[in-house]
Amino acid sequence: MDKGLINLINYLEFEKKYFRKEFFITEDLVRFDMQLFEEIMNCKKCNLHITVKNKVIGSGNKNADIMIVGEAPGDEEDKRGLPFVGRAGEKLDEMLKFIGLTRDDVYICNVLKCRPPHNADPTMEQERACIGFLKQQIEIVKPKIILTLGRHASSSVLGQKSKNMYDYINKEFSINKTIKVIATYHPAAILYSKGESKNKIRQQVANDLIRLKKIAGEI
Ligand code: URA
Repeated sequence: MDKGLINLINYLEFEKKYFRKEFFITEDLVRFDMQLFEEIMNCKKCNLHITVKNKVIGSGNKNADIMIVGEAPGDEEDKRGLPFVGRAGEKLDEMLKFIGLTRDDVYICNVLKCRPPHNADPTMEQERACIGFLKQQIEIVKPKIILTLGRHASSSVLGQKSKNMYDYINKEFSINKTIKVIATYHPAAILYSKGESKNKIRQQVANDLIRLKKIAGEI
C-alpha cells in the first residue's frame, strides 16, 4: 500500500478516538493538529527523510493527562508507522500495566519522527530539526505530566545538555511552567541489561512509574 495512505489510515484511526472523546475541541486545535500532521509528513529538514519508510507521529489518547516520550522509531516502528510496536513496545506495555494503565490512557510519541538507520543515537542536527514537532504535540495534548524514556528523550524534553541518566533520575522537573516531567530508563535498557544492573534498572523504573501514577492522580 502507498506509504502516504498507510500514514493517513493510522492517523485517522487515532482521530476516531480523539473525536469520540467528550471534551471541548476547538476548530483551531483540530486545524493545528492536521497542520502538524502535514508538516511532519512533508518534512525534509534532516537527512532521515531519505531513508525513512514511515514517519512515526504518535499514538494513543490526545486527551490524556500522561504523555510518554521515547527517543526515535526503531525498525518495527518504521515498518508500521506507529511508536513502540517492537520489543521495547512490549516492555512499555508491561510498564503501563504495572500501574494499571493501557495505551488508551496515555499519548505516546518520540523526539524523532523518522528512524535513524541502524538505530543510531539521534544527532544534534536531527534533534534540532525535529524538536519543534514534539513541542507542538505537547501543546495539542496538553499533558499534566510527561514520562521521558531514556537519556536522549529526557535531555530533549528538558532542554538540557547532559546525556547522563543519573542527572535526571529521582528528580522532579517541570516544563512550560505547569507540566511535570519524570525521567526514567528506556524500556530497551531493561531488555538489554543483565544481572545486577538489570535488577537495579527494573527497580528504578518501578519506582518512577509509581511516582508518575501518584503525581498524575494529584494534579
Ligand atoms: N524506541 C523508541 O524510543 N521509540 C520507539 O517508538 C521504539 C523504540
